[in-house]
Amino acid sequence: MTKVCKFGGTSMADKGTIEQVINIIKSDDERRFVVVSAPGKRYPNDQKITDLLYKSFEEKDQETQPSFKKIRKRFIQLVEDLQVDIDIKKHLDEISQNIKSSKTSDYAASRGEYLCALIVAKKMDWPFIDAKDFIMFNSNGIFDGHATDLMIKEKLLKYERGIIGGFYGSMPDGQIKTFSRGGSDITGSIVAMGVNASVYENWTDVNGFMTANPQIIKNPKPIDILTFEELRELSYMGASVLHPESLYPLRKSSIPVNIRNTFEPENKGTTIINQKTNFSDRLVTGIAGKASYVSIVISKSLMNNEKGFARRVLSILEKHDISMEHLPTGIDTMSVVIEKNELKNRISVKELIEEIRSVVNPDDIYATEDLAMIAIVGQGMANKIGTAARVFNALYKYQINVRMIDQGSSEMNIIVGVSEKDLNLSIHALYEEFFQ
Ligand code: ASP
Repeated sequence: MTKVCKFGGTSMADKGTIEQVINIIKSDDERRFVVVSAPGKRYPNDQKITDLLYKSFEEKDQETQPSFKKIRKRFIQLVEDLQVDIDIKKHLDEISQNIKSSKTSDYAASRGEYLCALIVAKKMDWPFIDAKDFIMFNSNGIFDGHATDLMIKEKLLKYERGIIGGFYGSMPDGQIKTFSRGGSDITGSIVAMGVNASVYENWTDVNGFMTANPQIIKNPKPIDILTFEELRELSYMGASVLHPESLYPLRKSSIPVNIRNTFEPENKGTTIINQKTNFSDRLVTGIAGKASYVSIVISKSLMNNEKGFARRVLSILEKHDISMEHLPTGIDTMSVVIEKNELKNRISVKELIEEIRSVVNPDDIYATEDLAMIAIVGQGMANKIGTAARVFNALYKYQINVRMIDQGSSEMNIIVGVSEKDLNLSIHALYEEFFQ
């Protein structure tokens, strides 16, 4: 059996955390492919290596290169502390030279994971496997699953074990290309699929997923097990421990993902499984909420008879490259719920309203701007009577006004919109109802 592990930036921060990682790897012989992030923050005000690398790219024409100096210092220190026999200065000189001639920031950004993997591999005396040899992007910079599968067979499967830098791969001309930020998770899931792992362990600095946000609920109960679909609904509303794109390849396989804490390795964390499961012993798996939504409410008599009404509204959003989150409708009304960030630098709420008005000529149109969305998620809710009643009763008990309701057709989630000022109180009310 082969386990694939991915360790995040805080696990790679310094000598102490890297030694802890090596102990974890060595404590289980099945842990054979290990994906590492670039060194992250050692303390709250510290800088992540990847952030410094992006800055180095911006500073590439400057004489002094202040960010690269910091990177240099940190890696030299790390190699010295870990007593690894590696000519780190030579690597750093080469990287600094290459950054100067790079056209995009990708090469620079990827070097944190590259160097970190080299160092860990050397320290453990395991092979270093360069992700550029098997994670493939096409010439437009889009991840190429087919080419990657072929190269995994040719390059990765030659190894019995190895250390791999996350976050990057290469394009057909050999240029380095990175995933979006946090993308080492994606590398981990691709490797897990490629070697047909029995489990993909994603090691981070928390004990997996909690039933509610710990910043709102003190010591919320952990979630031991959840499905990909449930996680999608929860992470979608802000509980993001894993890069959302990393879930996509795994969802198609039956490889479970185990979120673990490097700093509490005895904790079993959260396991994410593929099967649709009707957990008989629980109704709600978790509650997630997020502020900063705007809802555009459109009404027009006989809207239901007017063909293409919704399409015309949505094509305005498409034109401005805005994605929407929910679309609750009534017979003569339709609301489009959008995350405020989506509008930023694109169009103001007022302009959007005017454009919709000119295209569909509604009787009324207005925006509700201070909206928070809360998702109550659980596959155990399907076909069980009374969950929605309990949700609304819990909110009623605290006199919270529900401004919007939406339920996915899978009966796996109930979404309620409340005023931003009521977000925390609503989460408390719902947590009390379902978990206390
Ligand atoms: N180092 C990259 C970042 O900071 C990728 C990762 O850590 O997953 O975004």
